[in-house]
This record gives sequence, structure tokens and C-alpha cells, in this order.
Amino acid sequence: MRVCILGGGTAGWMTASALSKKVKNLTNSITLVESEAIGTVGVGEATLPHIRFFNQGLGIEESAFMRATEATFKLGIEFCDWGRIGQRYIHPFGDFGTSINELDFYQHWIKLNQHGDFGSLDEYAYGIMAAKQGKFQLPESGKTELQRAFGYAYQFDSSLYAKFLRQFSENNGVVRIEGKVINVMQDQQSGNVTNVTLDSGQIIEADLFIDCSGFRGVLIEQSLKSGYQDWSQWLPCNRAVAVPCESTGAINPYTRATARKAGWQWRIPLQHRTGNGHVYWNEFISDDEATNVLMSNLDGKALAEPKQLFFKTGRRNHFWKNNVVAIGLSGGFLEPLESTSIHLIQEGITALLELFPVTQDNKYEVQEYNNRMGLQYERVRDFLLLHYVANERTDSEMWRYFSNMTLPDSLQEKIDAWLHRGYVQRYEFGTFLPPSWVAVMMGQNLIPQAYDPRVDKSDFQQIKNMSQSMRKDIAQSVATCQSHMDYIKTIGAASNSKILRAP
Ligand SMILES: Cc1cc2nc3c(=O)[nH]c(=O)nc-3n(C[C@H](O)[C@H](O)[C@H](O)COP(=O)(O)OP(=O)(O)OC[C@H]3O[C@@H](n4cnc5c(N)ncnc54)[C@H](O)[C@@H]3O)c2cc1C
Repeated sequence: MRVCILGGGTAGWMTASALSKKVKNLTNSITLVESEAIGTVGVGEATLPHIRFFNQGLGIEESAFMRATEATFKLGIEFCDWGRIGQRYIHPFGDFGTSINELDFYQHWIKLNQHGDFGSLDEYAYGIMAAKQGKFQLPESGKTELQRAFGYAYQFDSSLYAKFLRQFSENNGVVRIEGKVINVMQDQQSGNVTNVTLDSGQIIEADLFIDCSGFRGVLIEQSLKSGYQDWSQWLPCNRAVAVPCESTGAINPYTRATARKAGWQWRIPLQHRTGNGHVYWNEFISDDEATNVLMSNLDGKALAEPKQLFFKTGRRNHFWKNNVVAIGLSGGFLEPLESTSIHLIQEGITALLELFPVTQDNKYEVQEYNNRMGLQYERVRDFLLLHYVANERTDSEMWRYFSNMTLPDSLQEKIDAWLHRGYVQRYEFGTFLPPSWVAVMMGQNLIPQAYDPRVDKSDFQQIKNMSQSMRKDIAQSVATCQSHMDYIKTIGAASNSKILRAP
């Protein structure tokens, strides 16, 4: 089988790396076409913990990856001004406390909290407490179950990641061709793409095409007319302006998302700089004002001109159509509030690998892939929307729009079940597990009216004692843990890293 990947952004090179490493009989049959003149989207710096398993699956050593991509560790996202102006919370990658009598700890905490001061839920999450104090250690070095109950991801330069994976893929036999696709040929009967023509005149034939051409969707949309499900009524932010700046002070092991009057601003600390961007809905703020908001909220000197990006949230009707599979921005885009895009690339690659080998008669594979990816996008959409609707802000038109919104049934049911007795309904194929929902709902003041009645079966004094020892265990361990910057130093900082220059 000959495979042609169109596009050399994060999606293209992640796909090339995975296919060349994992599908043995594809070695030397993968061609990747990219156009430096078109370039890549050039943003995308925060990730989810799953990317560690992607790298591990390729056999990539963590320290080499971190040096090559100027990466830092990410223990979660700090949300500022979301529930109410002045409030902040961290959505960690991990659980709160350890379950007691087979019930999630947060259920007991709701009861405890009704009977006195047992600290905030944050104090029971190792990842949150370490993030707040700028500390980092690997989960496996924790001495107790509680100290190990967190995950971590990375904050990195995604163009350096693509470069790193390009090297990896080329070493694995992937052939890269520079050029712009100017024509796509389809078989008249089947509609399958048979070949693409580059501006140099070169023709590339393949059996399977993977469209990683970004928002353009050169194959999946421009040729195969998949169609797009527009989700702007739920996620209406449609523009972003991004700029890197000098980093000042300590490098936080977390990303920050600060709500603004018509959107929100990200801050992502890397080793050599800090990435910033303002995602906004142009209905309620002009491009100039959005840029001003961004530029007046930077930690240090801007290192480039601000870059404007345009998007429409949603997904393709078909991620896989005929012999074309769309992975990355060509398949859809949900805004970057929870750093899910690179993760959805990974999900797309995983699903494709599970359905290999791809044959001519691929009806069931296509159906399975489209169902699965459709659910993944829908689950992420609901989780992102939760941040906008679970809040009490009415101080601007955008926030008032969300307070009057009719939610998708899937999200409304989830919120109702939570408010009723703190129950988090489980999804099939959801990226975000119950602790993530608990973090955002609690963090944004969506407090359940009641806790699970089974909590009352536990001895209350015993629960009090156990919770106190959990808090103590976390506080003591975080106090002795090394700083995030020191930890990066020990595994080898990147050459440009400010960490190397720090005293
Ligand atoms: C504002 C914003 C912030 C984001 N932040 C995050 C984040 O924090 N975390 C995260 O996970 N994701 C984030 N993303 C998403 C992330 O940037 C993308 O998912 C990721 O970079 C993958 O992009 P891609 O490879 O699909 O597309 P692109 O990077 O656009 O690459 C497309 C490739 O296709 C090639 N191409 C296109 N047309 C042709 C043609 N005709 N001929 C030849 N080649 C062609 C281009 O040259 C390029 O190589 C963000 C996105 C936006 C818009």
C-alpha cells in the first residue's frame, strides 16, 4: 500500500511518525508533501497527558524530546475570572483525594464541607498543590498512592515538535517532498483520489491519502466535499491573535486561561519564551481592540508581531471519505481552551492504526472511524462549552449570550445529574474523565445540591481523620519536592533555555 500524507504541520508529521513506526509493511511506502510557501498554522503549544504515550509508543526519550522542543511540564490549566471575576482554579490532570468505601473522595468532601472547614478540594490534589508552588516530580516517584495520583503533559513549541518528528520519520523511511498540490485527480466511478499534482509538475499516486493540510482541507473538502458541521452557535469564538514574549520570573508548570470580555487569553510558558494568545468572538470586540488586550497583558517584551488567525468551530461531516482520512485541522477545530487539538490528532492516528490494513472494501472501517471521531469531537465540545455556561458572569454581551443559551442535550443531562447528587455521567469515548468535570464544575461554582446518599453510610469521624491525613501527606510531599525549573535542569534544558542562565 502506498500512503500519501498531504501536509507537514503537527498533524502530518505525527501521522508520518506513527505509521512509519507502527505499520511494518508501510516502511518506504509513505510520502509526505508539504509546502514551505504555504507554511503551518504556527500555534499549538499546550497538550494533554496522552501525548506522553504517543512519544513512548515511538520510543522517544523524554529528555531528548524536551530539549528539542523547548518543552516544560504541564500539571494543568489555571482558569482565571471564569466562574466570577477575581476567582481562579486549576483543572489538574488527576484525581482529588483517594476514594473511601468505594466512593469518590469529592463526595465525602461535599459533606465535610457542610460541617466545617476541611480545606479546599485543591488541597487533596497533588497536581494542583505542586502547580501552585511551582514544583514538579514524576508521578512514579511519589511514595504514596495520593502522591502518584496525577498526570502531566507538556508545553512545547509545536513547530519544533514537527521538526523533531520529521527527523524521526525520515529516519524511518518516510519520503518528504516539497511542493504545493495544485491538482487532485479522482477515479470517476469510485470517487477515490488517485493522484495529486504538485506545482513542479510531479505526480504522486497513492492508495490511501491522509489529509493533514490544515484548515484548507485540500482533499477532504476541496475535492471530496465532505461538508462541515458548524458549531459556532455553541462555541462562537472565531478569531485569535497570538504573540510570543520574553519569559520573566519562574516558569510555571501550568498553562493559564484568563477570561476576557469577549473571549479569553492564554499564557503558555516554554523554556525559551512564553506563548500568548487572545481567542475572541469578533461580534463583540474589534480585531484592534482584541490585539490591544493581548499586548497590554504580556509578562515581558513581545518577540514578534502579533499573528491573526481565523476559524469556525466544528467538524467535517466525514473525517474519512473514500480513500481520504482527514487528521488535524483538516478534520475540524474546537477552540484551544483545553488544549485538545493535538490530542484529537493522536486520537485520529490511534483509530486509524487500529483499523489497518485499509482495503478497497473499507465500508465498516470508515463507519467505525467516523462514529468514533464524531463522538470524540462532540465530547470535547461539551466540555469546552461547560466552561462558558457554568459561570455567573453577566458583565459583557458575550457572557450574557451564554447565560441564555440552550445547551446540547448531552451536556444538559450531564449538568443536571451533577447538580442532583454530584454524579458525573460517564461517556463512551470521552477524553475528559470525571475528575476533570468535577474540577471545572466545582471551580466554577456549580455546587451539587446534595451528595451521594451512600456517603452517610461511612463513619464521619473516620472520614474526617482520613481526609486530614490526605491533606497532610500532600502538603508535606509538595514542600520537599524540587522546583519545576530545577527538575528541567536535571533532565537537560534546551540550549536556548533561560533555565540554563538562571542562578
Ligand atoms: C489559535 C489557535 C491556538 C491553538 N492552540 C493549541 C494548543 O494550545 N494545543 C493544541 O493541542 N492545539 C492547539 N491548536 C491547534 C494546533 O495548532 C493544530 O491542531 C496543530 O498545529 C495541527 O495543525 P495541522 O498540522 O492540522 O495544520 P497546519 O499546521 O496548518 O499544517 C498544514 C500543512 O499542510 C500544508 N499544505 C496545505 N495546503 C497544501 C497544498 N495545497 N500543498 C501542499 N501542502 C499544503 C502546509 O504547508 C502545512 O505543512 C491551536 C490552533 C489555533 C488556531
